[in-house]
Amino acid sequence: MSGMTTTLDLNARPARAAPPAGAGSERPSLVGLSRAELAETLVASGLVPERQGKMRAQQLWHWLYVRGVSDFGDMFNISKELRSSLAGRFTIARPEIVEEQVSKDGTRKWLFRFPPRGAGRPVEIETVYIPEEGRGTLCISSQVGCTLTCSFCHTGTQKLVRNLTAEEILSQLMTARDRLGDFPDRDTPDGAIVPAEGRKVSNIVMMGMGEPLYNFDNVKKALLIASDGDGLSLSKRRITLSTSGVVPEIARTGEEIGVMLAISLHAVRDDLRDMLVPINKKYPLKDLMDACRSYPGLSNARRITFEYVMLRDVNDSLADAKELVRLLKGIPAKINLIPFNPWPGTNYQCSEWEQIEKFADYINSAGYASPIRTPRGRDILAACGQLKSESERMRKVDRLALEAMMIAGHGEA
Ligand code: SAH
Ligand code: SF4
Repeated sequence: MSGMTTTLDLNARPARAAPPAGAGSERPSLVGLSRAELAETLVASGLVPERQGKMRAQQLWHWLYVRGVSDFGDMFNISKELRSSLAGRFTIARPEIVEEQVSKDGTRKWLFRFPPRGAGRPVEIETVYIPEEGRGTLCISSQVGCTLTCSFCHTGTQKLVRNLTAEEILSQLMTARDRLGDFPDRDTPDGAIVPAEGRKVSNIVMMGMGEPLYNFDNVKKALLIASDGDGLSLSKRRITLSTSGVVPEIARTGEEIGVMLAISLHAVRDDLRDMLVPINKKYPLKDLMDACRSYPGLSNARRITFEYVMLRDVNDSLADAKELVRLLKGIPAKINLIPFNPWPGTNYQCSEWEQIEKFADYINSAGYASPIRTPRGRDILAACGQLKSESERMRKVDRLALEAMMIAGHGEA
């Protein structure tokens, strides 16, 4: 780790020989480029003259992010010749949907497969959609696996890790929109954006697999496109980025991305947090809290969410609740209590329901909103910390073990 500061270089992919002829999926994607990059890319390809670069980029942007097309052939205000030469050189295709599971409670989980795009191996990513009264939240992954090893998190046990590209991050949102009907129909008048109130995906959270602040640049690119008012147009107030506490990147998150912040706190003493969230050894609680206090844009209307997983007899005492309130003093905060979601092989158990309520009551009486996050989609392993992709897809015996654990009383699923 010497010489590394906060960003691990997981982007580097092994070089390889020329792609096999006809491997269409390896054409570079135009999804995930900023407007300027899109114009540059089009001009550099020689298909678009320099003086038209900006205009063509604007046209494509509209098709990609307002209309949600995934086939150049649908861009009917672009000449047939140009459409077909673009299609020969680039792709705007969605990932393959390997699996779509729908939980008893309506939660959906997709397993997407992305082609290698020129180098490396295909990747598989899980994305979860959680419908609720009046809103729907998409939980997006930022990495395949995670280099951190929080002891209660299933993702942290996955060995294969690489950063997702901006295309792969953004495509999770775009494919979910396709599946849920959030893009306008082909026959709606040109230019119509499905209004925010009518959308199935009203909010996104970077709470899937991976540590988003270890993939800062790609996450930033994807979120700036997701929040672009002439495109996917999700309000930054409805985008939450969750970090385990990569302190040096927290201020930049506010300044350069401007989205809502969530902190995976989980413990209020350094000795315990060192064990649960090992990045704490590098960036201890004091540094983390200082970074939170100075988060750009922080106010009572824009609070930081502190996530706190409830682990039986580990971090769930009233003394912990008291210390939590003391720790957060002066920070506009919400506290999200997450009942621990079990996975095969874990040594932790979820706190007793009564204990979670006592804990919540204490925090509430101190003036904090402290919703208890209802576990969603546990039956399809879509709940927090249960994601783990195809590379290590759960073996059948593990699934059975998990079901047995849940029947034994950890969750009503
Ligand atoms: N890596 C980032 C974002 C992804 S995790 C982070 O850690 O913040 C999303 C949330 O789920 C985090 O708060 C994480 O600590 C929590 N989590 C992980 N495993 C869990 C589990 N088994 N049960 C409940 N919550 C879990
Ligand atoms: Fe990584 Fe977040 Fe899981 Fe920790 S909780 S291992 S940071 S995904």
